[in-house]
Amino acid sequence: MERTAVLEQFDVMRVRKDFPILTRTVNGKPLVYLDNGATTQKPQQVIDAIVNYYTQMNSNVHRGVHHLSQLATDAFEVTRHKLQPFIHAAHEHEIILTKGTTESINLVANCYGKAFVHAGDEIIISAMEHHSNIVPWQIMCEERGALLKVVPINDAGELDMDAYRSMLSDRTRLVAMTYVSNALGTINPVNEIIALAHAAGAPVLLDAAQAVQHLTIDVQALDVDFLAFSGHKMYGPTGVGVLYGKEKWLNAMPPYQSGGEMIKEVTFAKTTYNELPFKFEAGTPNIEAGICLAHAIDYLMDIGLDNIARYEHELLDYATQRLLRIPGLRIIGTAKEKSSVVSFLLEGAHPYDVGVILDKLGIAVRTGHHCTQPLMDRYGIPGTVRASIALYNTREDIDALVAGVERAASMLI
Ligand SMILES: *Cc1c(COP(=O)(O)O)cnc(C)c1O
Repeated sequence: MERTAVLEQFDVMRVRKDFPILTRTVNGKPLVYLDNGATTQKPQQVIDAIVNYYTQMNSNVHRGVHHLSQLATDAFEVTRHKLQPFIHAAHEHEIILTKGTTESINLVANCYGKAFVHAGDEIIISAMEHHSNIVPWQIMCEERGALLKVVPINDAGELDMDAYRSMLSDRTRLVAMTYVSNALGTINPVNEIIALAHAAGAPVLLDAAQAVQHLTIDVQALDVDFLAFSGHKMYGPTGVGVLYGKEKWLNAMPPYQSGGEMIKEVTFAKTTYNELPFKFEAGTPNIEAGICLAHAIDYLMDIGLDNIARYEHELLDYATQRLLRIPGLRIIGTAKEKSSVVSFLLEGAHPYDVGVILDKLGIAVRTGHHCTQPLMDRYGIPGTVRASIALYNTREDIDALVAGVERAASMLI
């Protein structure tokens, strides 16, 4: 594939041309899409790939000898092949294709739990986790008789690293933390989190659902044991996600679901399991999404994650400064290291009402607890209004948001 040397300077207007949905109107106003933390829009390259799949190669994968099945299988495996350098994995077979972050974390909670967690063991998570990185551990801890420990945060939304250090012990069986908080935007000090866990003999799972689309990730440099993320938040299709796992852990874990694809040989007396990665990929996968994720990866790599990070960070600073000038507006999540999320409250207004007024103006944000109810409880608030930034957002989008919030303030307060 030819690398177009796009964007020495980040050319956001050119990027926007790749996203056809951005030209539509909502409630008679140009769409301002600032709900990227929930899901991102898709570039034409990904949309074309979806159409191409169904018009040219629809067929089941890893099965038939016929031509279409070969085409589909090859295209599906191209995605795994591209994911390896994308996250700098040592081996392609360390990449398991799942439905998304949620399934990736459930897989580890189930399979790692069965193999390694016993009564009296401890799992460590943090106070800022998404429900997807809380509930699977709660269930697993209950089943295995283990204890779930939660690292607290300070008011800025940063992990209390002293508390974390003091929680680690030889009872710690795994640490599961988010790389970037979906509700606060905090970028956690993952290098230190991993080094400390390893010193205590515990592996680490990172929830990278809000990280892969914003930051360059190198699983080997991080020395992370498991990494989970979703295709639909990184400009790819819904219904596909990734679990990276170090080979030694994946080999030591029992399969997740069972059925076709994950087996080597089945008799009624005994079944032997397939090799990695297929051991963890039972049944027909979401073939279309799996294939088309490759095009989202190409898209991100062509622009360059460092360019994206730099641009988005500038936009985040701009949004933060402008929003803070609105009287009565309070930002929730003021960590020193942040990425792409501004969560806020307007004093005297319910987040939901602010969201409804913004929607009338064509501005899409998310309101509520953002699947982080314990975190909202920590702040003693019902939820926030969250604007989350992607590579196609502009200063004009932020200006529209600020004008919309000012309008909401004048109506609600
Ligand atoms: C979205 C999200 C998830 C869940 O991802 P799904 O795609 O819904 O499986 C988990 N963690 C974080 C931090 C998220 O933002």
